[in-house]
Amino acid sequence: MELKRRRVILLFLDGVGLGADEPSSNPLASDAYPTLRALLDGRRLIAQTGRLSTASAELIPTDAVLGVPGRPQSATGQATLLTGINAARLLGEHYGPRPDARVRALLERHSLFLRLTQAGRSPYFCNAYPQRYFDAIQRGRRLLSAIPYAAVVAGQTLLTYEDLCAGRALSADFTGEGWRRELGYPDAPLYSPQEAGRALWELSQPYDFVFFETWQTDLLGHAADLQGAIAFFQRFDAFLAGLLEAADLTQTLIIVTSDHGNVEDCSHGKHTTNPVLTLLLGAERQILAAAIQSLTDFVSVILRFLGVPEPETA
Ligand SMILES: [Zn+2]
Repeated sequence: MELKRRRVILLFLDGVGLGADEPSSNPLASDAYPTLRALLDGRRLIAQTGRLSTASAELIPTDAVLGVPGRPQSATGQATLLTGINAARLLGEHYGPRPDARVRALLERHSLFLRLTQAGRSPYFCNAYPQRYFDAIQRGRRLLSAIPYAAVVAGQTLLTYEDLCAGRALSADFTGEGWRRELGYPDAPLYSPQEAGRALWELSQPYDFVFFETWQTDLLGHAADLQGAIAFFQRFDAFLAGLLEAADLTQTLIIVTSDHGNVEDCSHGKHTTNPVLTLLLGAERQILAAAIQSLTDFVSVILRFLGVPEPETA
């Protein structure tokens, strides 16, 4: 019999912190998310909940300030998450949204995608990008953000509309509606959020580390769009339900995390210094949760779970 494959699925939600119990400004203070509610024994993803361990989930308020003054930013936050190195401290500032040469240098040498590739493993960044994204990069009008940059320098080709149609990639909005409505692909495949969750499980089968990113949460936070954010988290909640239904949780660790706060405080449209949300679901979650305090801790947790030896650190 074939050995079952251990797998980490990381769901990265840009700009999601744990904020106040204030339903008029914090979409996560709402009670509109049945899957999360069940996972958390009726508690919500707010600061007041604190660290929580239930029969099916670990909630870990995670430090994204990293000992550096100012509001955390995406490039340094994501680079820290992907390298285990405190990029904000190294640069002496929170920097973003797109990585500059300093951040790119870190990602070129130390990213998790690279480490896994070098260890003979199969990391997979599963987001699809529209042609106009590639055109803008080509014309120099846009820089790759930290996560696609890390995937590309580790040797992955970014996924396209064709991959989306073939079920090899996922839409950042889960359902694909944005491809039809905003990106000019009227025939893009449509999923319900639950179906998208199941589709993520299916497309993850050849890989042992799958990374999914959505930046809608950060955009909704900057727009201070509370109702839009509630609608987003309802879709996410259903997506998570579909993924959990399909996944073999005896062999799989699912991580939900973020790079900095923002959308949990829709009163001002700026990043926050709140701890970010981290949820661990599935195999070995209790043991691994104990090792997570800040964005620097994910790389070693993921390598440990996958049985990849950590490199010697000086
Ligand atoms: Zn932002």
